[in-house]
Amino acid sequence: MSGHRLVTGESTSAAVAVALSEQVYTTKRVENASERNVYGTKTQVQTVKAENDPASSFVGTLNQNKLGSALISSDSLVSAIPHLYNIASSQSSFVVHVSAENDKKKNTFGDFSNVMAVRQTGFALLSSSSVQEAQDLAAIAHLASIKAATPFLHFFDSSRVAHEHTNIEKLTNQTLANLISGEEVEAYRNRPQQSNNESTYARYKQRKAQDSQEDRVDVYKVVEESMVQFASVTGRHYLPLEYSGHPDAENVIVAMGAGATVVESTLQALREQSADAKIGVLKVRLFRPWSNAELIKVLPASVKNIAVLEPSHDYTSTWNPVFLDVAAAYQAAQKDEVEIVSGQYGVDAADFTPAMVNAVYHHLASGNLKRRFVLGDSLPVTHKHAINVTPESTQQFVVVGDEAEVLSAFDQLKDKKIQVYTVKENGASVSHVRIAHASTSPVPSLIDHADVVILLNASANVPAAIATLKPHGHVIINQNADAVSGSVKKAIAAKKVHAYTADASALLKSKDVTKFDASTKVDASSWSSAKAEEVKSVSAAKAAVKESDVLETPYIKMLDQVFGERLSIANGINAASVWSPDTQSANASNPEFGYGKILAQNQQRAKFLADVEQTLNNTELPEALHKTLSQWLLVAKSAGSKPQQVTDAAIAAENVLEQHQTEASVQAIIRNKEYLFPKSNWLVGSDAWSYDIGQSGVHHVITSGENVNMLIVDTTPYSSDTEREQRKKDIGLYAMNYGSAYVASVAIYASYTGVLHALIEADKYDGPSVVLAFLPRVHNAANPIEILQETKVCVDNGSWPLYRWNPALESEGKDPFALDSERIKKDLEAFLDRENHLSVLVAQQPDLAKTLVSSVEADVKKRHEQLKSKAREDYARLLSGLSGNANGPPVTILFGSDNGNAEGLAKKLATKGKSRGLKVSLMAMDDFADIQELANVTNVVLIVSTAGQGEFPSNSREFWKALNNLAVGDIALQDTKFAIFGLGDSHYWPREEDAVYYNRPGKLIDNRLEMLGAGRLVAEIGLGDDQDADGYETGFSAWQPELWKALGVADIGTDDEPPKLTDDQMKIDSNFLRGTIAQDLEDESTGAISEINGKLLKFHGSYGQDDRDIREERKKQGLEKAFSFMIRVRMPGGVSTPEQWLVMDELAETHANGAIKLTTRQAFQLHGIIKKKLKPTIRGINQSLLSTLAACGDVNRNIMMNPNPHVPEVYDELNDFANKMMEHLAPKTNAYHEIWLADEMVAGHAVQDFEPLYGPTYLPRKFKIVIAVPPNNDVDIFAHDLGFIAIINDDKTLAGFNVTVGGGMGMTHGNKKTYPRPASVIGFCTVEQAIDVAEKVMTTQRDYGDRTNRKHARMKYTIDDRGLDWFKGEVETRLGYKLEAERHYEFTDNADRYGWTKGLGDKWHFGMFIENGKVKDWPDLQIKTGLRELAKWHKGDFRLTPNQHLVIGNVPEADLERTKAHLAKYKLDNLSFSSLRLNAMACVALPTCGLAMAESERYLPTLVGLLEGTIEEAGLREDAITIRMTGCPNGCARPYLAEIAFVGKAPGAYNVYLGGGHKGERLNKLYKESLKEEEILAEIKPIIKRFALERTPGEHFGDWVIRAGYVKKTITGTDFHEL
Ligand code: SF4
Repeated sequence: MSGHRLVTGESTSAAVAVALSEQVYTTKRVENASERNVYGTKTQVQTVKAENDPASSFVGTLNQNKLGSALISSDSLVSAIPHLYNIASSQSSFVVHVSAENDKKKNTFGDFSNVMAVRQTGFALLSSSSVQEAQDLAAIAHLASIKAATPFLHFFDSSRVAHEHTNIEKLTNQTLANLISGEEVEAYRNRPQQSNNESTYARYKQRKAQDSQEDRVDVYKVVEESMVQFASVTGRHYLPLEYSGHPDAENVIVAMGAGATVVESTLQALREQSADAKIGVLKVRLFRPWSNAELIKVLPASVKNIAVLEPSHDYTSTWNPVFLDVAAAYQAAQKDEVEIVSGQYGVDAADFTPAMVNAVYHHLASGNLKRRFVLGDSLPVTHKHAINVTPESTQQFVVVGDEAEVLSAFDQLKDKKIQVYTVKENGASVSHVRIAHASTSPVPSLIDHADVVILLNASANVPAAIATLKPHGHVIINQNADAVSGSVKKAIAAKKVHAYTADASALLKSKDVTKFDASTKVDASSWSSAKAEEVKSVSAAKAAVKESDVLETPYIKMLDQVFGERLSIANGINAASVWSPDTQSANASNPEFGYGKILAQNQQRAKFLADVEQTLNNTELPEALHKTLSQWLLVAKSAGSKPQQVTDAAIAAENVLEQHQTEASVQAIIRNKEYLFPKSNWLVGSDAWSYDIGQSGVHHVITSGENVNMLIVDTTPYSSDTEREQRKKDIGLYAMNYGSAYVASVAIYASYTGVLHALIEADKYDGPSVVLAFLPRVHNAANPIEILQETKVCVDNGSWPLYRWNPALESEGKDPFALDSERIKKDLEAFLDRENHLSVLVAQQPDLAKTLVSSVEADVKKRHEQLKSKAREDYARLLSGLSGNANGPPVTILFGSDNGNAEGLAKKLATKGKSRGLKVSLMAMDDFADIQELANVTNVVLIVSTAGQGEFPSNSREFWKALNNLAVGDIALQDTKFAIFGLGDSHYWPREEDAVYYNRPGKLIDNRLEMLGAGRLVAEIGLGDDQDADGYETGFSAWQPELWKALGVADIGTDDEPPKLTDDQMKIDSNFLRGTIAQDLEDESTGAISEINGKLLKFHGSYGQDDRDIREERKKQGLEKAFSFMIRVRMPGGVSTPEQWLVMDELAETHANGAIKLTTRQAFQLHGIIKKKLKPTIRGINQSLLSTLAACGDVNRNIMMNPNPHVPEVYDELNDFANKMMEHLAPKTNAYHEIWLADEMVAGHAVQDFEPLYGPTYLPRKFKIVIAVPPNNDVDIFAHDLGFIAIINDDKTLAGFNVTVGGGMGMTHGNKKTYPRPASVIGFCTVEQAIDVAEKVMTTQRDYGDRTNRKHARMKYTIDDRGLDWFKGEVETRLGYKLEAERHYEFTDNADRYGWTKGLGDKWHFGMFIENGKVKDWPDLQIKTGLRELAKWHKGDFRLTPNQHLVIGNVPEADLERTKAHLAKYKLDNLSFSSLRLNAMACVALPTCGLAMAESERYLPTLVGLLEGTIEEAGLREDAITIRMTGCPNGCARPYLAEIAFVGKAPGAYNVYLGGGHKGERLNKLYKESLKEEEILAEIKPIIKRFALERTPGEHFGDWVIRAGYVKKTITGTDFHEL
């Protein structure tokens, strides 16, 4: 063993491993690698790379029966899971010593998360809490592992134990030899070997099934015995679970690892203060196997409160593992009176200190326990908890400088206990040193009362090290006080301690650092004004990457879901290792390994079939046996049998075989009865398998013809520019070329159903199948939104095509090839056609494959290149046409544009320039290929808008980068003149300090060009401001004449442009909403339709959109945007029949992106419909008797209504009213029928329509009507133009309605002229009057609404402009009678109601939670499938709710249980969410909504998750707080009525609003602007915590934030902006 006296936990456990193993695998340097082991041989030490899946090497020892061990860090554990299962299932002696790393490197204790992740693998888990234990328990682990033939995982905190240097009582090889008995080793070697025939997965399942309590107790006992044996040899006693403290303790802490030692030290100090303190600590050493009985036995019966403290960084997990085990033990013992709470340390604080432990004991004694807390956060630690646990005689000092120098100074110091622990501060080593009495065990926490700080490195920037000094402590500066950094000087001055200079190295060597020369005191009087250095931290960024590393592969989950018990994964690989950097380990994970197993299994099964066949020839076989076995054989051999049929027959056969166990002729069948059951055999691998396909196991599988399924997960993002020849996609083509393999290329984030199809087809296919599955890992992280975006880009651009090739279909006369990627269908079909011709040749000469089979990607890219150059040619031609006759000066107009404004303006300028005879060239800045060319441009005009936080638009970034890189002298611009016009919004960033972002790109270019020596055409940059009366036009019309003047063409031509078509004119010209939509639909040259038709299309229920996730990529490819359409269905009250549901389900799958969105307006919405699918989709919807007419547009839109009134007696009447009103207010044009439903072509102007209510100009803007049924305001009555509040008589009949007018949500950021407004009640009307009232309100708005400014056109502005009384009067005049006075009503909330309620006539309703209304299948939750299957037999209806959820309505009593069982089967009955989640709502936003400035629907669930922890800790899990998010201020999810609202401002940034009324009755108010996630959490969490403490009974969050002064109360729309 090592000659040093000071050792670390890591070095000492390594020494034991080497002494007690024959083979050691290590990812670390091992000092004593050359030593002999106690068995008399030299230990083989093999270094393995941490990033190369080190655990794959361990498996090698299993077959050699060697005593093995490994030294790794916990980083490697997760990827080792499959191997650990494998080792555990082999029942080998193998010890893995693990230092539990702390990813964040911030905390000095370990993070046990990764260790906890492997607690189910079957390894015994032993934890050390000090360096001494790291040595001793290492030995005990080896000893017990041999005795129990069970692998052990021995772990300890990486930083604290692994790297703490201390002197311990060392184990000699002789002592170790005394521990291990030769007979036991012999017995271990002679144990019966396990069969290796089964897959790891099967063995794991088997082991799990066998994992009985008895087994666990056995290993527990072996550990206990080993500890006793260890004590007898060394005198050091250990217990698997060790209690210390008061024998009648009431408050106990349970802890593990180094943290447990801190608790122990503190407990000791507290008990010294008060021997009566009824406190204790339980140190968990053996965590697996876990014994409930032992835990209860060890802890005093008097215990009342237990805090389980665990080190973890996981804010989101609700309960930690040790806590769960302790709680379960007490529950099993029916000791419910014991309060158990869960605490975390190591989350934010850098250390785990005695003060923290003291705080926990205080908390336990307080009687008011928090179920879950984070130390230093939700459980505050204050000065009153400070406690000294260090004996007076202990010297404590801190040395800044080389750790080696410190170690060498104290290494040989005798008769003392030395503890040296080093942390980093701003790159400098800071060693915390304790020198104590030999018998003490110093606390493993950082020093906070140092006697002396020694600056060996005088210039180190270490103010925190100075802060560790006790009052009147000393600082010793090595030689030169002038070298001391500013921060340290400041810290010394602040701490008011004295500093001295000395030869610090010599002082250290003297071993008594208090003996310095006091006459060298430094004059530090001026140090308080020293300037502190800036410190940059890179660790946070690194940690961020690391944090998201582990993600389970959803494909494995899907395999499990689809095949369940039938699933057999033959190679030792699972989700984690697919994500691991390298899965090409030599054994378990490669395809050959599993392939051999599957072949063997297939052969065994064939033999089994033959055996059964032969047995059936036995005429004496009992009849029952004969019958069931024959039936089984029949289905098992029939190609058409479904797996379930075979399974059913197998279960029957198994039962009969059991009854005839003694029958001699079936013994062989009974022995192998597992082969009765059909298996789905899979090999799962990563794209690493794609290298050398021709030589690999993949090649064997494909060419074998055997029934083997391969799932190959590719994690490489294909949109990166990396060239990938012969990569994974070629496996697909390679396999297809053999003709006889099933091949599918799928992507779970593009089409879940596609993956399902492929897995099921592959399983069914009798031959080799290859399923290529895409799961890109972007930027080394696994962020679901990024994966989604990357997947879409790749599917869209053809670099990851979605297809299925099923040769079995050929024999059925069907097309074997199905391409699921719509956009590239044509390209790919042509491409594959070509490939098909080659396939015969390839099949004959496989080696040619690599050269002949070029990738699809290359082909598509080439095509895109061609398109791009064609576009350039066209452009050049256009230019020559444009400027062919020009004789004026040349002008190059460059634009940088994100939303089209700058581009539009540039084009306008180009047209005008041309009409003035200028030679104009126009292009996006990034198309200006060579920046040096600028020197040859005479006049350049740059039009640039402002993106995000003062950023450049995406098509100008390269240009700016190149320009910005030029220094003066790099380019000669003396002959170049420039003019710049920028577009921005001066109020977009209203904070003063953010003013720099206004028009920043334009200003930057302006400065740069001037600096580089270019001359100015126009004296000053032109600035367009969205805040100006006419938007950017105001600035542009002032700047433009200056430009023409400068170019000398001011008097030429005119600026006359055709007047801009107003929306009303457009409507008039459209011939009642026809426009030229029909012609546009026929135009295949573009996926879009014209701007005007796009506006008209809204009236037909559809919007044109483009997928913003892939906008950039398509732009790069030279392609037009990925245009598609959204279709919204009009369905009053959100009611759909099961048949209509099935139609929507089918249309979503065949024509849209697969998902159905339930919207905030109780309507179905389908997204991602390409142009040519628009007509069949709308037609399909109409055939199911739903319509899309007037679902959008300037008309009355879908009418909303409470879907499940608490007064069911009025539901039908209200529903009828909603339908009649909808019908009455619907547009009457025939255009809808002509364009979408009639088979003949559109009649155009030949038809003359008549719109009795709307006239040819329809309404100025959209118009929304809702019906509310108190006390539930789920429809948000105050958010709509017109509302009817049902007034119900005592006898449950409908009396009539209170009428509300003038509600509306939309506004524009920073534009105070726009605001949300809550509706006003104007009176009461009867049921009979209501439709007339609706008509008159709507026509009043039709006639008086502002038609000149769409931003001011909603009815709320008409009412505020003219006054509510005027409006009411006008309506009453039109009605010819007065409305009655409003009647009493009361709302309680504006949320949906969940769960079962009984209606009339034995009908039931179930309110189901569907997060953000997204009906689609997820790996864990098959919402869409579940609802589809329900719709096939459900006899009631489906009702969409106003908050985007669903009511399964009118379930007959007779179907109640069946419905409940169905919902439970698909987990659709799960309502156990926090109230926060149940009351959260988000709009669609990105990627489809063109107006979205930030994520909404895809992000809100995450944000809610981040707040849930605080909500739970504050005890608010059951308290409803309305929380809403939208991607822009348009307000589709009605955010301004929420108690907390987030409104998108820029990517990742949101305006936060607080104080909305809980009943949806009051608007909220802006609280903070443009907050990013971290800032949101920092702001909102403390408010939530305060609310929990300060609210009065029944007080809602929205009311409280006003009372607490966070925001002012908003009375109505006009004071919304008054902060
Ligand atoms: S609120 Fe804005 S981002 Fe959200 S869907 Fe509506 S328009 Fe789009």
